[in-house]
Amino acid sequence: MNERTISTGGRRVQRRTRRRRHIGGILLMLLPAAALIGALHAASPRPAPPTSPPAGHLPVTAADAVLSEEPQDAGPAGADTDWYLTLVNRWNPIPEHYEVNLVETAGGELVDERIYEPLMEMLEAAKEGNWNQLPLVVSGYRTQEEQQRLYDDRIAKYRGQGFSESEAKEMAEQWVAVPGHSEHQLGFAVDINGATYDVYLWLQENSYKYGFIFRYPGNRTEITGTAEEVWHYRYVGVEAATEMYEKGLCLEEYLAERQGEE
Ligand SMILES: [Zn+2]
Repeated sequence: MNERTISTGGRRVQRRTRRRRHIGGILLMLLPAAALIGALHAASPRPAPPTSPPAGHLPVTAADAVLSEEPQDAGPAGADTDWYLTLVNRWNPIPEHYEVNLVETAGGELVDERIYEPLMEMLEAAKEGNWNQLPLVVSGYRTQEEQQRLYDDRIAKYRGQGFSESEAKEMAEQWVAVPGHSEHQLGFAVDINGATYDVYLWLQENSYKYGFIFRYPGNRTEITGTAEEVWHYRYVGVEAATEMYEKGLCLEEYLAERQGEE
């Protein structure tokens, strides 16, 4: 039951950043981009929050299975199989001693270096659904402290609107993951912002080609535990993303199905 305490090897946490590419004019897009995300947050419906994992939900990751078999094998950074399928949601926290090597995207947000190339390829291609402008990553990797701040700020906002502590907490958790439970802490989830809403429609139909999934569709809220977020994309690799796209599965469903096959 205590699989979560298994170390991923106790490797040193490395955080290095480097700017790989400069893309001009990006800063000009930031303000309208932020405004759009704000508007989307405000406009989106709020489904009732699930209070427990749905029946049949298996809160186990592929990484756990591998680590359970070979807990002694620390291995080099690239040796972890299927790192890109690590499940993080309200029932599955970030792995202990999680480490990530970060690179900077246009606009200054950081992402795991392993997703940089497919991410940039996807954003370049997405220009065709975005008035020929490069969509921006407006939120990438977050530290525990950053996630905590977002979480606390959102609760404070609802408290300020007159909601009780428990109401404010419940409402906040529809939009901001509990610290330690955000995919953003993995480094391979991004919030994307474009010049037009059409970019989200483009992403929903094309992101899988680059290994990314529309992580929180509105018809899977009970399973993902998160309200629809059209801007949030998560890397899972091309093979998994393609299967999820073709079968209409969310990550939790895909992993449960995969586990059933083993
Ligand atoms: Zn997000």
